[in-house]
Order: sequence, then structure tokens, then C-alpha cells
Amino acid sequence: MTLRGRLTSAFLVVVLGPVLLGSIFVALTAGAVNRERTTERLDQAEMTVNAAVGAICRQLQAAADAVAVVPAADRQAVAGQLLARGLATDLHVTDPEQPILGRAATTGDANPAGWRDCADPAEANPAETATALAASAYADEVTVTAAQRIDAAMLSRLGEAVGVGVGVALGPAAPEAAGTTDRELPAEPGRPLRLTLRAAGGEPAVRYAVLVLIVLVTAVVAVVAARWLARSTTRPLGDLAWAADRVANGDLDTRVPIPRPDELGRLAGTFNRMTRELQSYVQALTASRDQLRRHLAILGDTLSSTHDLDRILPVILRTAMTATGARAGLILLTDPADGRLAARCGVGLTGDWDVPDADLLKRCLVPGRGVLGKVAATGSPLRGAACTASDEPVCESYLAVPICAPPTEDSEPEPGVLGVLALYDRLGGPSFEDADMRTLRTFAGQAGVAVHNVRVHEEAQRLSLTDPLTGLWNYRYLREVLRREVERASRFGRMLTVLVLDLDHFKEVNDTYGHAAGDQVLGEFARRIRLGLREVDVAFRQGGEEFVVLLPETDAYGGVIVAERLGAAVRDWPVPVDPRRPGMNDRVPISVSIGIAVFPEHGGTAQAVLDAADEALYVAKNAGRDTYRLAERVSRVGPEGHLNPATAAIGGPHPPRHGLGR
Ligand code: GH3
Ligand code: MG
Ligand code: MG
Repeated sequence: MTLRGRLTSAFLVVVLGPVLLGSIFVALTAGAVNRERTTERLDQAEMTVNAAVGAICRQLQAAADAVAVVPAADRQAVAGQLLARGLATDLHVTDPEQPILGRAATTGDANPAGWRDCADPAEANPAETATALAASAYADEVTVTAAQRIDAAMLSRLGEAVGVGVGVALGPAAPEAAGTTDRELPAEPGRPLRLTLRAAGGEPAVRYAVLVLIVLVTAVVAVVAARWLARSTTRPLGDLAWAADRVANGDLDTRVPIPRPDELGRLAGTFNRMTRELQSYVQALTASRDQLRRHLAILGDTLSSTHDLDRILPVILRTAMTATGARAGLILLTDPADGRLAARCGVGLTGDWDVPDADLLKRCLVPGRGVLGKVAATGSPLRGAACTASDEPVCESYLAVPICAPPTEDSEPEPGVLGVLALYDRLGGPSFEDADMRTLRTFAGQAGVAVHNVRVHEEAQRLSLTDPLTGLWNYRYLREVLRREVERASRFGRMLTVLVLDLDHFKEVNDTYGHAAGDQVLGEFARRIRLGLREVDVAFRQGGEEFVVLLPETDAYGGVIVAERLGAAVRDWPVPVDPRRPGMNDRVPISVSIGIAVFPEHGGTAQAVLDAADEALYVAKNAGRDTYRLAERVSRVGPEGHLNPATAAIGGPHPPRHGLGR
């Protein structure tokens, strides 16, 4: 059953129930009162009828007496007077000598049938219709009977006098029924007639009909009112249900009309306000989701397309800020060399930290100190209000999480902290929440993977280009750098000197001191080369005990100076090694032969100049070792583009002074 049906039923029960009960009560009460009043009226009428009939009887008796007592000769005249005055309708004299008197006396019957004797009512035959009241008087042998005819006029007069309808009863006496409007009066002394009294009006049928009509009209009015009331109450609720259904289906533009400023109106207003706020909330959420989606797309592209941390970290930082609604953010990475926290990128920073990127990159923090330092030192995230560390960004709230290297199967269970990702001042809220911390840890994880990948990549790059024994660049890298440097020197019209170095009699070092000692000698030799060079010079291990040194922006003269310096650095300090056997010399005297070639003087290409230096080295070896030689003449590129190496070299100033086994 619907709400409207229930409301209608309830209203009808409340309104119609009392109306019906009241009507029944009124009907019952009215009936009882009516019957009581009828009985009272009949009682009253009975008394009055008795009195009236008694008076008629006494009047008739007086008339009969008056006729009887006068002399016979006067009887006729007296009777005429009495009749004329209406004291009786008939006068009957039974006197053999006198004519019959009166209108009804023409029959000569002294006691006509239907006359009721006032003095002796019992004698009357109930089967006969009463036609008159009679009273008789006797004198000598004369009987005078005075009668009053009972006709409609007489009964009508009587009825008017008593207030009810009066009639003459016929037939056998009816048993008296209580509560009826009719009453039968038996003949009795003083009232020789059987009379019926009838109270006017009887049962109030019209009143009952009116009552039923009122109930019916009330019912119709109540039904109409109930339907109107139920509809006006349930229609706004129906509208609300419809609107709520649409909102539940995602149509947040739905609004309901506000009917009246009553409770339902307030409910509708609240519903509209709720829907409006829900709509703006959803719009804000959608906008922020779209923004986040764009940032994530950029992040994905960036992570997959580059190993450049300067591009990756800002994207991660901005995406994390968007996801958590932070005003500012900062990423610091731990410097593997000194362990300090170096700023790598910042967004939205204020105060001391509102500086150009170049200055920001110079900022360093000490692990263990301040919020960021503690996060880096402990590897645990920190969250709070108002930063107190003076050398950290000023903020009202902060959230800082460690950037950790992703765990790998063979790594330690606790991967090292690579840096710190910090956010400042959450927009639209007093402080950062647990959900923000979870989100930020996700982004810190991304940053950790990125930093780790970049470092692994750099390391792999470095390993693929360096020589593990000496730490110098390897032959692969030599070719690339030489090509690049020759290109640059050629473009800018500069010179470039190439030194090729080869340890003298190194095979004997191995043979005498062992291969391990030979490795030690190679390592020490490389170290001395590095120490003897400028920052812009680059040293390579070409293979075995052969090394190459590139001297950019250097001419032959500069090359010779370097060759002399390196030769001396090798020659002057025998290399300490672990002695193979007790008592054996623990210092190995070594020397190096060096070939020098200059671009473009001795070779027009990378390979040509390298070959020219090799050739010069060969010359130096032949000259007795522990010396250097400069390539002698300009080499030319051959017909196939191959080298045409120099065939002679200028000798170095140092003739071989010592050598192993020679
Ligand atoms: P020279 O150059 O003066 O003509 O004589 P050399 O003995 O140096 O000549 P050679 O080029 O024939 O010998 C080079 C030796 O260097 C051979 C090899 O045993 C040794 N050698 C090459 N690479 C390594 C290395 O990585 N470690 C060690 N210990 N020895 C190496
Ligand atoms: Mg050698
Ligand atoms: Mg060699």
C-alpha cells in the first residue's frame, strides 16, 4: 500500500469514525427521547379525553334530567331548547302519551344500537359500532335519554382538545404494545367508549434520513479532503524520490521544486543544496583526477624516455604535489661521494629557498640534522606542523619521506636511502594525512626507481668504458674520445697531441715478480700517469701494458714536456710490490717508451694520428727504450683513406739508461 493510500485511510478513519459513532448515538438517543415524549403525550391525552368524555356525559345527564323533571306537556319545548343549544344531538323519551322527541328519536327505540350509556359502559356490545354517547333519566314511567352523536367533527374537536388524533376503536381489543404511537383506551365508567389515541409524527424517519444524508455528505467531503491532503503531502515526497533516483543514477543537475516553506520545503531545499555541493565536489574531484592523469601520463613518458634526473625528478615532484594538494615541494638526493643531502629540484618554495635553480642545486643539508636530515638518516617518514629547522624551507605543515632504492633479490633487506622527497603546506587542510603519506611514498618509490636506474645506468656506462685493473678509460672509449677530440680540434683549428706509452720489458717483470706483481706495477703506472696530467688531459689503457694519453689544445712542444715528465715519474721511483719470495727485491724499477704525434701535424684523422704515435713509439723502442720520440713528418691520408704513417721519429733527449734484462 502506498504512502498516499495509508494517509488517505488514516484520515478517513480519524474523520469518519467519530462522525459515524456520533450519528449512531444521536439516532439512538433521538429514538428513545421521541418514544418517551410520545408516551407522555399519550398519557396527557388520555387524561384529557377522560375529562372531556366525562364532561359530555355529565352534560347529557343534565339534559336528560332536565327533560325528565319538567311536566309532560313542557317536555317537548324543553327538549327543543336543549337540542337547539347543542347540549345533546338527540333526546329520546319513552312515554306512551308523548311523541318522540329529538332528531334521532324518530325510531322510537329507547336504546338504539351503538349508543353507549355513560352510566354503564360494560353493557355495550363491542361488536357494535359506537355511534353516540348517551345518558338516561327516569321520571314516573318516562325514560329520557340524551345522546351526543359521535361523528368526525366531534372526534376532530376532541382531538384538537387533547393534541393527538382520536378515533373510535373497532373490533376486539388489541394488546397494548409499548413504545408505539397508538394507544387504545377501553370503555370504563365515565368514558363508555373504546377510543384510540394516535400521537402525530410517529418515528422520526425524516430525521434519520437527514442524519444519513449528513453522514454521506461528510464522508464524501472527508474522502475528497483526504485525497487532497494525501496528494499534497505525498507529491513533494514523490518528487524527492524521483530526484534522488536520478541523482543516484548520476544526474547531478537534478533539482526538486521547493513547494512551501514547511518541513517538506526544508527537506527539498536541503536536498538541492546537498546535490549542488555533491556536484561541485564531483567536479573538483574530476578536475583533480584529470590533472593527476595528465601528470601521470607525463611521468610515464618521462620515466620511459630518459635517464636524465633533472627531467625526471621535477615531474615526479609536481605529480606528487598535484596528488596530495601540496603548495610546495623539494627533492634532495644523497651525494654518494660525501653522503650529504643535495637539493635537486624545488617547486613553490618561499623565503630563503625561493632562489634560481642554479643556486638551489648548491644547497646541501647534513644527514641527521633537521627534518629532512633525520628522514635521510633514519629512512623513516616524518609529518608535522611548522618546520623549525632554520636551514630548511619555512612552512605551516610538512610531509617528508625517504627515497629508497628498490629492493632487489640480492640486495640487502634494507635498501639504502637515496634521498628525501618533501612536501609543504597542504592546500585545503591543516596538515597532511595518512593517505597523503601513502601517496607520497608511492611517488618516492618512483623516484627511488628512477634514481637507482640512472645510477645503475651510469655505473654500467662507466664499467663498459673503463678498465677494471687501472681505472683508466678503455680502448673503446679511447676511439670515441679521440674521434670527438679530433673533430673538435679540426673544427676550431686547434691542435691535439697523442702520446702512446709502452712499458719496457714488461714481460720480464711478469716473469720475475709474478703476474700479480705485474698487475700492481700496471696499477701504479696508471696512477702516476693520472697524477702527471692536467684535468683536461685523458688517459686510456689501450691493452696489455700499452697506454694512450690525449692532450687537447697541446702542440708537440707541450707533448714532449708531458712525455718527459711521465718518463721521469716512472723511472725515478721503482714500484713497490709484494715480494714473491723472501729476500727478493720488493721494488721494481721500470721505464716507459713514448711515441708522440700531433694533430693535424702528424695525422689528419684520429686513426692516422694514433698510428703516427705508434710509429714514433716503435722508433723510441728501437732507440733503446726509456725515451720518447716525436713523429717525424706529416702523414697524409692514403688513396683508400687509410693511414700513411710517419716512417721516422725525432729522438727524445733521454737515451736509455737502464732496462730490465738488457
Ligand atoms: P718491450 O715492450 O720493451 O718490447 O718488451 P715487453 O716485454 O713489454 O714486450 P711485450 O709486448 O712482448 O710483452 C708484453 C707483456 O705484457 C706480455 C704480457 O705478459 C704482459 N701483460 C699484458 N697484459 C698484462 C696484464 O694485464 N697483467 C700483467 N701482469 N701482464 C700483462
Ligand atoms: Mg712493453
Ligand atoms: Mg707492449
